[in-house]
Amino acid sequence: MVKENLSIVEQNIQKACARSGRDRREVQLIAVSKTKPVEMLMEAYDCQIRDFGENKPQEIREKFPQLPEDIRWHMIGHLQRNKIKYIIDKVCMIHSIESVRLAEAVSEEAAKHGRVIPVLVEVNMAGEETKFGIRPEETEDFIREIRLLPNIQVNGLMTIAPYTENAEDNRIYFRNLKKLYVDIKEKNIDNVVMSHLSMGMTGDYEVAIEEGATMVRVGTGIFGERFYGQI
Ligand SMILES: *Cc1c(COP(=O)(O)O)cnc(C)c1O
Repeated sequence: MVKENLSIVEQNIQKACARSGRDRREVQLIAVSKTKPVEMLMEAYDCQIRDFGENKPQEIREKFPQLPEDIRWHMIGHLQRNKIKYIIDKVCMIHSIESVRLAEAVSEEAAKHGRVIPVLVEVNMAGEETKFGIRPEETEDFIREIRLLPNIQVNGLMTIAPYTENAEDNRIYFRNLKKLYVDIKEKNIDNVVMSHLSMGMTGDYEVAIEEGATMVRVGTGIFGERFYGQI
């Protein structure tokens, strides 16, 4: 099933790239494997997937030793400061930096391992109260505030768009995040490398690609529905 789903997602990505005149190589597919067993991750791995997204430190910690070493693990969910230590030596990128205290703590933990961790700043584009993230109008100041932390490097922006039945509803948020990204990029802020825009999930990744996503985070579309709690 994973194989068939991946082939559909891949076709959709290619079509969205074609529609928007983009090169397929500009878009990285992150397979969001939260709640899914390592056997399913291996199915995706066998289809050449190397980027996996998880939202719980504990899950990265458990899956990491059971899977091949060339996997790139992306921390995409809300991160509590006391959990950073479980993942700091395992992840290639943290997509969910949304406070100065968190950025400082990530930098401190990364220093213990001699690493500089690429991070994205999570922006709450729709102003949803239930979501984490910096307000769009505060994003530049926020980046200026954390840019000199020695063991992180800001590599771009991320957003989690609202849940909707109609992907077109989210186009405006993706478009505005891209604008914000370009604005900040053009300022050439010291020690800030704007190279990634992480946006789009199963319901809306094609629209996100049309609006400039460089990373899409697709879970359900690859691994099927998630079941929480007892089965
Ligand atoms: C779960 C999750 C996804 C993937 O969601 P799907 O709708 O299953 O594709 C993407 N991004 C984040 C931050 C997530 O937590």
